[in-house]
This record gives sequence, structure tokens and C-alpha cells, in this order.
Amino acid sequence: MGLEEKAGNLGVITTTLESAVNWGRTNAMWPMLFGLACCAIEMMAAQASDYDLSRFGMEINRASPRQADLMIVAGRVSRKMGPVVRQLYDQMSDPKWVIAMGDCASCGGVYNNYAIVQGVDEIVPVDVYVAGCPPRPEALIHGIMFLHEKVKREKLAPRASDEALRLDAVGRQVATTGSRS
Ligand code: SF4
Repeated sequence: MGLEEKAGNLGVITTTLESAVNWGRTNAMWPMLFGLACCAIEMMAAQASDYDLSRFGMEINRASPRQADLMIVAGRVSRKMGPVVRQLYDQMSDPKWVIAMGDCASCGGVYNNYAIVQGVDEIVPVDVYVAGCPPRPEALIHGIMFLHEKVKREKLAPRASDEALRLDAVGRQVATTGSRS
């Protein structure tokens, strides 16, 4: 039996393994269920009926880091919270991605003081930064779409952030208990 007879009228679709895997990853990217401050309200709005993040395969926020592959850091990160955020990240399975939502998570925002981490990238590798105080749901969705485009171009080889992860594990104590040099 020829290939045309097997495929019928559907035709033949060719793709690469990477494209197929990354297509699956972008269409079932489950965020972890947590929020740190006011930005989390906008994150919740993005998931509610008006904006409906479930359109992008993200309807389920997982309350366990073991079942999540996207960490949305929504809000300021206090120095005390830093080790907890890092532990949650470490507990997520690979591959995993991080979005810093809002000015506080991206760079400390208005909290330029000793108690607040001046950017969550001190603690975990960040893939996308979303500016705003707070960013509107549209901005978060734009950031997620941007992340999807990044993921579609990823190779199946170990990611650069995985390498950074090993480096971060060395620098973690500095990041969470000391000040940024
Ligand atoms: S960026 Fe603005 S809205 Fe978001 S956590 Fe900081 S102060 Fe709150």
C-alpha cells in the first residue's frame, strides 16, 4: 500500500522532532499556583473569563511544583521569601521556564531597599521580563506569547538556563542571604 493510500485525503505532514516537542510544550504550559504581591491580582485576572489564559493550554495552575513547568513570579520578592522561591524552582521538573512579572520581580521596582530582592534573576534564571506596575493582563499574555516563541526555537539539548542552574546553586547563598555586589 502506497503512502498516499494510507494517508487518504489528509495529505502528508512533515516536521522535525524538535518542532513537534516544542509545539506540545507551548500548548500545555502549566503555571505554578502562587503569587507574591499586587501583581498576582492581574495574573489572576489574566486567567479569569475576560482574558481566559486557558485558550493557550494554561487553564490549570498546579499547586505542586512537581507538576508545573512555568513559574510566574508575580510581585516583590522579600529576602526571606528568596530561598523559598528558589526551593520551589528546584522542585520543578525540567524543562521549566520563569517569567518575572512586574517591575518588582524584574528589578525591585519601587522597593529599592535591603529587604527586597532587586530582581528575581538573583535567585532563578528568568526567561521573560514583563514591565509594569502592575502589568495589565494583556502585558502578561504578551510575555507568555513571547516565551512560547522562544520555546519553539529551543533545541532538545540541555538549555542554557540548566547550565546557569548549576552555577546558581553555587551562588544561591549569596543571592538569598547577602546583598547583590
Ligand atoms: S510591580 Fe507594582 S503592582 Fe507589582 S508587586 Fe510591585 S508594587 Fe505591586
